[in-house]
Parts: sequence; structure tokens; C-alpha cells
Amino acid sequence: MKLKDKVAIITGATSGIGKAIADRFASEGAHVVVNYRPKPGNSEKASQQIASYSTRALAFEADVSERASIEKMVAAAVSEFGRLDIVVNNAGIEIERPFLEVSDEEWHKVMALNFYGPFVLSQAGARQMVSQGGGGKIINISSVHEDIPFPNYTPYCASKGGIRMLMRNLAVELARYKISVNNIAPGAIATPINQQVLEDPQKTANALEEIPWGRFGRPEEVASVAAFLASDEAEYVTGSTYYIDGGLTQQVTKY
Ligand code: NAD
Repeated sequence: MKLKDKVAIITGATSGIGKAIADRFASEGAHVVVNYRPKPGNSEKASQQIASYSTRALAFEADVSERASIEKMVAAAVSEFGRLDIVVNNAGIEIERPFLEVSDEEWHKVMALNFYGPFVLSQAGARQMVSQGGGGKIINISSVHEDIPFPNYTPYCASKGGIRMLMRNLAVELARYKISVNNIAPGAIATPINQQVLEDPQKTANALEEIPWGRFGRPEEVASVAAFLASDEAEYVTGSTYYIDGGLTQQVTKY
């Protein structure tokens, strides 16, 4: 078991990539805080999920675009398990809108969850890790769009680009505390965030044309890399982005 008795907080952990990471971490022996956003039905869903784990786990409702909720979640993790070793900033949203039409409200909504939330949780988590004597892992689920443009998704791309520099800066600044900080940049993974594409054969075909590997990725494939980065095997790994994209970012010019 890679993560025996480690304590991990995973945001947005009841669906898609976050759920796969929570499931994998629990199977690797970690005690997992399964964060879910306030929404009818989510509490039951999270409780059922953690009931299937063989390790102790905590389902925690928190809007991770708000400081107070995030700080309560870190306090709850420490109260329940006595410490905190791993933070996975996974929760994220995207809004499709031409740049000329993006409203302030849309910009702030995406930024609050995708960029401000990871800043706050990384800070609250790192403060706890330092107070324990140091050591810890921060993993951000960014996106290939931390690097490559995606027209009509400007707030999303800006938030993921911001996460890239947040990660690089924290990796340098927190190294003295032996807290590693890395990003995972998924390409097109089959999760609810891509529901519209997956339900539309033409959009699916267009997406597959961009992916040399010829298929969408699976959430479990992202979770494998997260399990490695969260483990002691990744002791000397910090300050980098790990792409899981079937070659999407290595596109060749086709004309
Ligand atoms: P998803 O929609 O299943 O996951 C997003 C999760 O965030 C959901 O569980 C949702 O409930 C949660 N969430 C939304 N608002 C929240 C809030 N205010 N507080 C707490 N949780 C909240 O989709 P996913 O693909 O699993 O996305 C997970 C992460 O992966 C996101 O950051 C996304 O940008 C990133 N990502 C996904 C893909 C992909 O192709 N699926 C590609 C690149 C990056």
C-alpha cells in the first residue's frame, strides 16, 4: 500500500476524477476526506461512497470557493484524524462563452473555485503540515489548458494557467518544509464535465481527432499518477506538471 495511514483531503471527490482519486487513495490505505459541494443528494452520495472504503474516511460538505468553508474542512480533518498529509485541489468548473461576452460574474465564479480555492486550501493545508513538523504533498488537478489555449473558455484557461504558476512558486517556497507541490494536467477524460461532448457523436469525433492515443482518458488513469505523486516514491518530485492526455498537447500541424 502506497499511502498507508496518510490523511488526504480531496475536493470535488464524489464524481469524475476526484472520486477516482478518493477511491484509489482509500485502496492504498489513506484516510480520505471526501469533499462535496452543497447540493441536494450529495450528502447521501458521499456517505455511500465512504461506506465502501476499508479505511476510516470523512465526507465533508464545503463550497471550496470560500475561505471559511475550506478552513473548517481542514480543521475537521485534523480533528478526525490528528494530522494532514495530502491535499488534492481537484474541484473545478468551466463556462463556455466567447471572450467578448464573458461577464464579471462568470469570470469571478470560475476564478473563485478553480484558482482562489486552491490558493486557500494549499495555504491552510501547508500551515497544518508545517505545524506538524513538515512533510506533505499538494497536488493540483489543472488541465492541458494550463498551457494550451481553448477559445471560448478564457476564464477556465486563465484559472488553470494561474494554477501553473501557483504550483511552481509554492514548490520552491515550501521545499524547505519538505512539502512537494505538483500539477496533473489531464487532457480529455470521460467525466461529467465532458458530458455534452460525450453525448454528441460529432463533438466526440472532433475531440478524438485531436488525441493521438485515439480515445478519451479514464479517471482511474489520472488517479494512478495522483497516487504516485502522493506517495513516498515521489519524495524528490516537486515543481512539475504531469500531463495525462494521450498525446493531445503534442499535436502536429495538419495542413
Ligand atoms: P466533474 O464535473 O465530475 O468534477 C468537478 C467536481 O467539482 C464535481 O464533483 C463538483 O461537484 C465539484 N464542485 C463544483 N463546484 C464546487 C464547489 N463550489 N465546491 C466544491 N466542489 C465543487 O469533472 P472532472 O472532469 O472530474 O473535473 C475534475 C477536475 O479535473 C476539474 O478541476 C477539471 O477542470 C479538471 N480537468 C478535467 C478534464 C476532463 O477532461 N474531464 C480535463 C482537464 C482538467
